[in-house]
Amino acid sequence: MNQADCIFCKIAGKKIPSKIVFEDDEVMAFEDINPKAPLHLLVIPKRHIEKVSDIADSDAGLMGKLVLTARDLARKNGLNDSGYRIVLNCNRDAGQEVFHIHLHLLGGRKFTWPPG
Ligand code: 5GP
Ligand code: ZN
Repeated sequence: MNQADCIFCKIAGKKIPSKIVFEDDEVMAFEDINPKAPLHLLVIPKRHIEKVSDIADSDAGLMGKLVLTARDLARKNGLNDSGYRIVLNCNRDAGQEVFHIHLHLLGGRKFTWPPG
């Protein structure tokens, strides 16, 4: 499922460039174009899923894989001791701007809680 007008589908299909840090057959991770922390990566499924409320039960493995990919990338970037934040925004009130599911992996600074 490739949505013609979806920017992250285009990134997954390498139709527009991005700084890819990990890729396999199902998942891709790349640097956020407007980083909000010293490390700011986006982890996406290659298949188009708009948002959390659209995830099917059968997507459980894929969603788990996104988290495991973020875990591995955090470890690779030396963040295990200091910590990091994984963010998954669902729809407009949460601030979702790109409607293709993505985990934000943020690290390298302290974050406030609760978020604004
Ligand atoms: P959201 O607000 O939907 O949770 O996050 C969307 C994120 O995608 C933002 O942090 C934004 O900077 C990033 N982003 C938007 N367009 C692009 C792009 O074309 N390339 C990359 N690498 N990141 C993008
Ligand atoms: Zn998409």
